Amino acid sequence: MSDEDIPTTDPIDPTDDGAPPETPPDSGGGPAVGDPAEPPPTTPDPTPEAPGPGDSIAWEPRTWYTVTVACLTANCSEENVVKSAPLYSNDGKAKNIRVNCGVCRVDCKNLTATKQDPQPEEE
Ligand SMILES: [Zn+2]
Repeated sequence: MSDEDIPTTDPIDPTDDGAPPETPPDSGGGPAVGDPAEPPPTTPDPTPEAPGPGDSIAWEPRTWYTVTVACLTANCSEENVVKSAPLYSNDGKAKNIRVNCGVCRVDCKNLTATKQDPQPEEE
């Protein structure tokens, strides 16, 4: 990189109508270089109505937790019934840390997780 033609100490003055310090966006024709300061035009995270902490729990692998879960299946007799259960975190990946509803067999929503202290001894 050459810094010969790039002012290094001049503050950018918005009232200065001189040439912009950086390449103007419409320099024309060339391939788009991309402006890292410009956010991509993607929509922000679509937030479900009740995100809950369940999917953002920082599971530690090979750890026993006491979790509270609730079935979210419509018309299930256990729907929205919060239950507590011991749960082993396996490899720590959320997709592998699930409690199935005993009625509809669908994965329940993990609401909270509390690390057991002390941890049960492993066999
Ligand atoms: Zn259910």
